[in-house]
Amino acid sequence: MKYVDEYRDLELAKKISKEIEVACTQPWTIMEVCGGQTHTILRYGIPDLLPDAINLVHGPGCPVCVTPVQLIDRAISIANRPEVILCTFGDMFRVPGTSEDLLTTKAKGADVRIVYSPLDAVKLAKKHQDRKVVFFAVGFETTAPANAMAIKHAHNMGLENFFVLSAQVLVPPVCSMVLSEPECKVQGLIGPGHVCTVAGLEQYEKLSRDFSIPIVVAGFEPIDLLQALSTCVKLLESRSPGVVNEYSRAVENVGNHVAQDVVNEVFSPCDREWRALGVIPLSGLGLSEQFSSFDAERVFPDVSPHSKQQQPRQCISDQILLGNKKPTDCQEFGKSCTPETPIGATMVSVEGTCSNYFRFKNH
Ligand code: SF4
Repeated sequence: MKYVDEYRDLELAKKISKEIEVACTQPWTIMEVCGGQTHTILRYGIPDLLPDAINLVHGPGCPVCVTPVQLIDRAISIANRPEVILCTFGDMFRVPGTSEDLLTTKAKGADVRIVYSPLDAVKLAKKHQDRKVVFFAVGFETTAPANAMAIKHAHNMGLENFFVLSAQVLVPPVCSMVLSEPECKVQGLIGPGHVCTVAGLEQYEKLSRDFSIPIVVAGFEPIDLLQALSTCVKLLESRSPGVVNEYSRAVENVGNHVAQDVVNEVFSPCDREWRALGVIPLSGLGLSEQFSSFDAERVFPDVSPHSKQQQPRQCISDQILLGNKKPTDCQEFGKSCTPETPIGATMVSVEGTCSNYFRFKNH
C-alpha cells in the first residue's frame, strides 16, 4: 500500500540499523515523547534492531496515561448527575479513578457514552436538548483543534446544553520538566510528529537551546523512527544540538496556522496536574473567557472527594514517564498488573508504555 509499505520495508530497516551501529561509539539515552511512537517502537521490535549502547526510554506522551486521578473522579462525579450524558473516547473508560473507572460508573447506571469525534457529542447535545451533554476532552496539541472547532460549532448553533471537561495538555512544558529533573538521563529526544504538524517547530528549537540536546521530529512508521534515531545518534556523536525535521511529508516549520488560530481563540494556557508527575505550569489548555460558558468545570460544582494519592504505592509509572525506569523494573508488571487488571494508567491505553511492553515485548 502506497505511503505505508515503503515505511515498513525490512531491508531498509536493516540498512538504517547498520548505519546506527556504525555511527554509535558510546552509550546514549534517547527518549521518544509520543505514545503513538512508543506503540510503533515496541510493536515492530525496534529496540532489537539497535546496538546495546542505545538505551531507548519512553516519555509522557500518552494523554490517557497522564490524565490525573482528580479529573477522572470529576468526570465520574459529573456523569452521576441524572441530567448528564458524559461522552469521551473509548480508551478513557478503563483509566482508574480513586475508587472506580468510567466503565464501572456506566455499569452502575450512569449515561456514559463512547464517541469517535467531539462533533458526535455536539450532535448528541442537539438531539437531547433536555439533557446536558459533557464531552471529556483528552489529548495533546493534536486533538485541540478538533475540540476547539466542536465548541465553536456548538456556539454557532446556539446550543446551551453542550459542555467540555478539558484535560488538554501540551508537550513542550512536560518535556522541559522531564529534562530539568536532576536524575534525568535523556540526551536526545525523538519529537512528536503529529503534535508538530499543528504546533510547528519553534518551541522545540527553544527546548533544544535550553537543554543543549538534539531533537529529531519523527513520524509513526518503523522506518520513520529508525531514520530519526539514526539522525539523533549522529547529532549526539558530533555534539550538535538542534532540531531536525525527519517528518517533512507532514510537518512544516511553522505548523498549521489555521489550527493554531482556532485553538488560541477557544482555549487559554493554564497550569495542569499530570498523573504521577504533579502540577506543571502552563502545561494545559482551559476554555478561554469568551467560551467559558461551555466549561464543565464552571458549570458543575466540584463534589468529588479529592485524592492526594497520584498512583498506587507499588506502581512506578511516574519513573517510567520520566524515562528513569522501564515497566520490567516494576514488580507488578505482568503479575497483578495487566491490561485486563491495570493498576496504573500506563497499563490502560494502547499508547501506554506498560501496556505496549506487555503486548509486544515480554508476552
Ligand atoms: S506495570 Fe502496572 S503497576 Fe507497574 S508501573 Fe506499570 S502500570 Fe504501574
